[in-house]
Amino acid sequence: MLSHNGTKVLAPVNGVATLTADQKFFQIKQDGSWSTSSIYQFKSYDFSSLINAFDEGALASLDIVEMPLKDYFLKFKSNPSIQIVLSPFSRYQHLDFEEMILTSMKEAYSSFIELLKTTFPKVEVKNFFEIPTLKFEHPNGIPEYFLHKQFQWDVKKAKKSLQSNEILYLGAETIYHILRKLYFGEPFTKRHLAVFLVDRKGRMDLEPRQFFLTNGQSLAFIPANLDKRYKIASFDTVFEAIQPMDVNSLGYFNIYEHYAITLYEKLPAVRKEFSCIDCLECNQYCPTQANPFQLIKGKIEEFDKEKCVSCGICTVYCPAGIDIRKRIEEVV
Ligand code: SF4
Ligand code: SF4
Repeated sequence: MLSHNGTKVLAPVNGVATLTADQKFFQIKQDGSWSTSSIYQFKSYDFSSLINAFDEGALASLDIVEMPLKDYFLKFKSNPSIQIVLSPFSRYQHLDFEEMILTSMKEAYSSFIELLKTTFPKVEVKNFFEIPTLKFEHPNGIPEYFLHKQFQWDVKKAKKSLQSNEILYLGAETIYHILRKLYFGEPFTKRHLAVFLVDRKGRMDLEPRQFFLTNGQSLAFIPANLDKRYKIASFDTVFEAIQPMDVNSLGYFNIYEHYAITLYEKLPAVRKEFSCIDCLECNQYCPTQANPFQLIKGKIEEFDKEKCVSCGICTVYCPAGIDIRKRIEEVV
């Protein structure tokens, strides 16, 4: 903000804002188009400048937990016997990043695929974007499950291929932020927060509202702007252990942890645990046949923890309200 002839003047990107005569409001005079995002610009990278760009942009994998992209890519540098997998899904598919990339970043996406091919010339790039038959359903966004389904590998092999860096895995949200940094000059300082609403009858509004927020931004605007009936909030999805909080105490946006928020009209009923009724729903819905039923029955050795992808589905379906997820955490 500059001071000019006694009147405060702002100089936004391509316009001028001045205070009104009574000094109460700003008025903005726009000069040309008012672009709120950068434009695509092709840039070429070699391995070293790519790593530097990841570092400079503070990019992290949003698929592999707590993994800076710089460190992740360095693990693959001198290994020609890997595969690169580009998944169209994000972990909980809070937003459709495949569609966002293909509608407004297609050129950048093609450039990135070419970049991967030249950076890793002997490596096969398996691109799962634009496959109409590939529809999202949880847990397709969990990397080991995605590999298990797409390559028909058993879950153990899929987990091992990720742990031993035989697969360089990039999900759609991670790719979205890579493209923003490499071809639009935008570092990883902003991320989408999807907001879901659950009414007092427990019905969820399936069309999320989305905000593109800056790391560290106060979340007080959420209760100030959304329907006042929604007083309870949680950053966890229905597949995770929900920790409800007062919507007025959301604090600040943490770019590495927050991607979705659910607002409840009424506190979700605290699930009371009853005894197992042997209905076997948990086993029936477990997508990897890990046999969680035996874990609840105390036969820990018969629960195949190597097959479990921690998707939380068994807990959601258990009619006795048993927190199977928590029992799994105790043994893995
Ligand atoms: S045991 Fe439960 S958490 Fe593990 S994979 Fe099966 S359904 Fe998912
Ligand atoms: S779903 Fe729950 S009640 Fe049914 S068998 Fe599994 S643990 Fe028992």
